[in-house]
Amino acid sequence: MRLPVALSLLLCCVLYCGSATAATKSSFAEYESNFLSELWRTYPTWATSVGYHTYDSLLPAPNEAYRARERKFATGMLSELKKFDVRDLSDADRTDYYLIENQLNYILWSADTLKEYQWNPALYNVCGNFADLINSDYMPLELRLRSFAAKMKGVKAYYAAARANIGTPTLEHLKLAMDQNKGGQSVFKDELNRELDKASLSVAEKAEIRRQADSVIKIIDDYVSWLKEKRNGPLRTFRLGQELYERKFYYENQSRFTAQEIYKKANVQKMAITHKMVAITEQLWPKYFNTPIPKNRLLAVKSLIDTLSLKHVKAEDFQETIEHLLPRLTAFVKKKDLLTMDPTKPLVVRKEPDYMAGVAGASISAPGPYEKRGNTFYNVGGFKGWASDRVESYLREYNDYILQILNIHEAIPGHYTQLVYANKSKSLVKAILGNNTMIEGWAVYAERMMLEAGYDIDSTRSATEASPEMWLMYYKWHLRSICNTLLDYGVHVKGQQYNYAMHLLVDEAFQEKAEAENKWKRVTVTQTQLCCYFTGFTEIYEFREEYKGLVKNAYSVKNFNEQFLGFGSAPTKYIRTMMLEKLGKY
Ligand code: ZN
Ligand code: ZN
Repeated sequence: MRLPVALSLLLCCVLYCGSATAATKSSFAEYESNFLSELWRTYPTWATSVGYHTYDSLLPAPNEAYRARERKFATGMLSELKKFDVRDLSDADRTDYYLIENQLNYILWSADTLKEYQWNPALYNVCGNFADLINSDYMPLELRLRSFAAKMKGVKAYYAAARANIGTPTLEHLKLAMDQNKGGQSVFKDELNRELDKASLSVAEKAEIRRQADSVIKIIDDYVSWLKEKRNGPLRTFRLGQELYERKFYYENQSRFTAQEIYKKANVQKMAITHKMVAITEQLWPKYFNTPIPKNRLLAVKSLIDTLSLKHVKAEDFQETIEHLLPRLTAFVKKKDLLTMDPTKPLVVRKEPDYMAGVAGASISAPGPYEKRGNTFYNVGGFKGWASDRVESYLREYNDYILQILNIHEAIPGHYTQLVYANKSKSLVKAILGNNTMIEGWAVYAERMMLEAGYDIDSTRSATEASPEMWLMYYKWHLRSICNTLLDYGVHVKGQQYNYAMHLLVDEAFQEKAEAENKWKRVTVTQTQLCCYFTGFTEIYEFREEYKGLVKNAYSVKNFNEQFLGFGSAPTKYIRTMMLEKLGKY
């Protein structure tokens, strides 16, 4: 970014007058803390969701006056921010600076140009935020219920503003809003009643809260009926179009590439990977089949993937298998010297807590930015309440090969490892505004790095390369990120239709029909998010290759990985700039 000349001269002067670095450091810390308190004052429900509980009782109505407040906050904070020269800041502060700048510009652009508040009725839903108040015990129940009650006073004006905002909605977001508002209402019914029963409030106070909740349910019902009527009125397309898509991509992903460039790269990668999958299938065919290989090579690839997918664990062994995988992954990372794993921070594996029951798979639960609890958990789910054919289909999807890749992605050396490194340089700003594209990109990059180092399902293999079977299954998995990108850009910018999506995902990316249908639904209600995996991966992988070329014999994958992760959850483009600067190459 460029500073006005007068201002940068002023800062240079300060710099030459001595002790500027220390002064800049402390005043930037002050700026950041001021930024965060203003952020939470402006966005109280966001504050609640990250565990900052000062404004729990507030629910601002999203009306014109509120948008004026947002603009005032963003422009004021931006002009304060521009008083700092990034060259005077430490690496950590500098990436915070960029994240804050991006967030503030995104707020302004959203309010003035994207104007989602006019066309996305699903933006308006209070249920989740009320649920935040009763589902976590950060404060005594009675106090949380009083915040709940005070917040309910804002619901009427909130939905009135919503109706006034929505001009021409999209049909897809209308439907989503109806489903989500209907579905979320249970928080004002059973969930609230359950908490009221436990609370030591007076009978009168409980009755008053109950009465308020009933009127909130009525307000939400009215909103849903109003949306139902809206379906007959003028509607707009859910497709964002090139201009808005590019700009939103810029703020969401903070990539050094444009969306169009990423789309082109995804097309090239899809072609390259399909060729590799066909070559592997031709090589492996006689090993698995007695029949001649089908002329349609995509069908042959599909048959081989289906055959390899039969190799999977039993449902009752699923959780234990994952638990045993983690030490194996850690040992492999160590043996191949890929990066240093902090031995004082082992990942705590737990069987899914009750509220997650029946969510198969694995996920990381890290403490929120304001939470005191120190543990990060690896939740491993089971199949409680699942029909047997659903279990079988899931187990085939997460067969012996893919299960390894899932754990690399979620845990080691993927999300969990990245988190441990990010926590070393704790920054509230990065914990709140951290770049999701880099975070997902790292996990996708970790998958490739492990396979390149020879990781395989068979731990007795001493080969330096993974087996062709492992690569084939990895490519199928990786094709999903690539196709997410092709789908997102293709649908929103190039106007691709449902049939194109099904062909792409089912015929060319070997996905199940149900998965493809869900993806289609997702692409009609989100924009520039499905592409974050491939965008992040591409940026990191291309940068690593660039870096390798620059440092030549001094290159080691470990050194690259550790330096890269040392910057925390910052956008890759800034990490790249700073790493190149250290080499004197930028
Ligand atoms: Zn089976
Ligand atoms: Zn992920």
